[in-house]
Amino acid sequence: MKADFIPGIYNYCDRWCERCTFAKRCRVYTEDLEAKKTKKVDVIHERISTDIEKELKKSFELLQKMVEDREVLGYMEETEEDYIEEQSDNQGNTLKEKGNVYIKLVDEWFKSNKAFFEEREEEISKKIALKLGVDEEALDHINRAFENIRWYQVFISAKIHRSLAGLKLENFEEIHFTQNDSNGSAKVALLAIEQSITSWETIRTYFPEKTDELIDIFVLLHKIQEELKQIFPLAKKFIRPGFDDVFSNF
Ligand code: SF4
Repeated sequence: MKADFIPGIYNYCDRWCERCTFAKRCRVYTEDLEAKKTKKVDVIHERISTDIEKELKKSFELLQKMVEDREVLGYMEETEEDYIEEQSDNQGNTLKEKGNVYIKLVDEWFKSNKAFFEEREEEISKKIALKLGVDEEALDHINRAFENIRWYQVFISAKIHRSLAGLKLENFEEIHFTQNDSNGSAKVALLAIEQSITSWETIRTYFPEKTDELIDIFVLLHKIQEELKQIFPLAKKFIRPGFDDVFSNF
């Protein structure tokens, strides 16, 4: 039977295939699965983990090329257009920096809380051994929250880079339209930020003693969110193939 693939669905997903309801309609997933069967290697995970790296590398290369092009063409005069571009460059650069800072903050937080969570784990193990009640629902919420945070930690930054790189490549007229790669990537980044904020909120609810430590993380995520919305005001209107397109669900 011919697979009913949704064109381009894999461009604006979160790459979390094991949780994806559209896996059977995704060409990338299906091809990776086939490759995995034949090559007997974990191609999917290999591909996904390198995808983020590739996106960052691609964005950097594009940026590099644009710098070179500008130099070659001798765009040294500061016209009004240059000025506008420079402003958006500056905004984009601070946004990229914030994405990178978030990666670092999360790593540091997990590192500094390693002992704390190991102690909690030990307590739970003791309770289980003594056949005392354990709130399994709470444990499930906490685990899912940690999974989400870790999954989107680098993903957010990668999507910020991609959305900004795309913006530079698109024609000025095109950026006014909703369906372009910049808006699509920005939308995926915004969704990942929302998921991350919700997950951090879960952690804060179960461990209120961590509230103060988490303030910087919350503030940073909200800033990134606001800046992305400012640069890409139409991002949320972007229709992701499959996920937002109702006709793909039939
Ligand atoms: S759309 Fe494809 S690549 Fe994306 S999460 Fe779903 S199965 Fe994975």
